Amino acid sequence: MIPFDLRFPTTVQEALELLDQYGEEARPMAGGTALVLLMQQRLVTPQVVVSLSRVDGLSSISANGSLRIGALVNHRVVEESPEVKAGWPLLAETYHRVATVRIRNVATVGGGLAHADPNQDPPATLIALNATVTAASSGGKREMPIEDLFKGYYETCLTPDELITELTVPRPVRPLKTAYIKFLPRTADDYATVAVAVALDVADGRCVDARIALNAAGSTPIRARDAENVLRGQPLSDEVFRAAAATVPAIVDPVSDHRGSANYKSRMAEVFVRRALEKATA
Ligand SMILES: Cc1cc2nc3c(=O)[nH]c(=O)nc-3n(C[C@H](O)[C@H](O)[C@H](O)COP(=O)(O)OP(=O)(O)OC[C@H]3O[C@@H](n4cnc5c(N)ncnc54)[C@H](O)[C@@H]3O)c2cc1C
Repeated sequence: MIPFDLRFPTTVQEALELLDQYGEEARPMAGGTALVLLMQQRLVTPQVVVSLSRVDGLSSISANGSLRIGALVNHRVVEESPEVKAGWPLLAETYHRVATVRIRNVATVGGGLAHADPNQDPPATLIALNATVTAASSGGKREMPIEDLFKGYYETCLTPDELITELTVPRPVRPLKTAYIKFLPRTADDYATVAVAVALDVADGRCVDARIALNAAGSTPIRARDAENVLRGQPLSDEVFRAAAATVPAIVDPVSDHRGSANYKSRMAEVFVRRALEKATA
């Protein structure tokens, strides 16, 4: 690694002031599980690293109405939270599927989102659950739908002076039918070859609303709006699930790599959307 200056602010305000002062020369660091690797490979070479480890006020979960998760909450805490398990079981299950327990004990919710690797697990589930993310800078705060955060491979809409401070997930009117499935042909702690999250609002055997998203299927997490449109208002049936899944290859754009060819992944995306719908409604 190149030498860098390591700062330890203790409040969000102090952290934001440092980011404001150093601009593109600074990088925030939360768990460091992604940033340190990028620095070792010299893919990023910040002169100032702003550690968030001593920053107060971003490490709690509350579930009064919507679920609010501070940016510094680690993956393991989300996975084990009784509130998350009770009200948003898909979220607990998804964070449980990330890497190994060693990584989950350190990696934070905010760091994971800011890292914006399209192969990561939480984004598809957060899109399916209609989550929003709050970002703060010295100039103020803004809240955006989670799907607006991602702009490309390892790229978000955050400016260098912004920090993710909170994730908000609305409480559904009634329990949703949900599933997160991740295709892992290599090892259980690998990144997905393709992964799908679905959340269906079902009443009287019909789909009232549907949200479907995929990871590892393009340069960002992808929301399958056409598939959602096929499902809305329809009775739940294998035929409808197949018709919804059939819209998926046209909207994904995976890369060929050691996990499979682009064509293979596109076909798997269709298969996995159908299977996720079956699992959610089984
Ligand atoms: C061996 C290994 C296996 C993995 N497997 C998986 C997997 O199976 N599934 C999966 O989903 N992920 C996986 N990951 C990725 C892991 O989820 C991320 O490394 C982790 O979530 C990043 O969180 P962090 O707190 O460590 O972020 P950091 O490494 O601290 O930061 C990551 C990026 O976010 C920025 N950042 C950090 N916090 C904030 C903030 N609050 N606001 C704005 N920017 C911020 C940093 O500047 C940096 O650019 C794996 C990682 C490793 C090392």
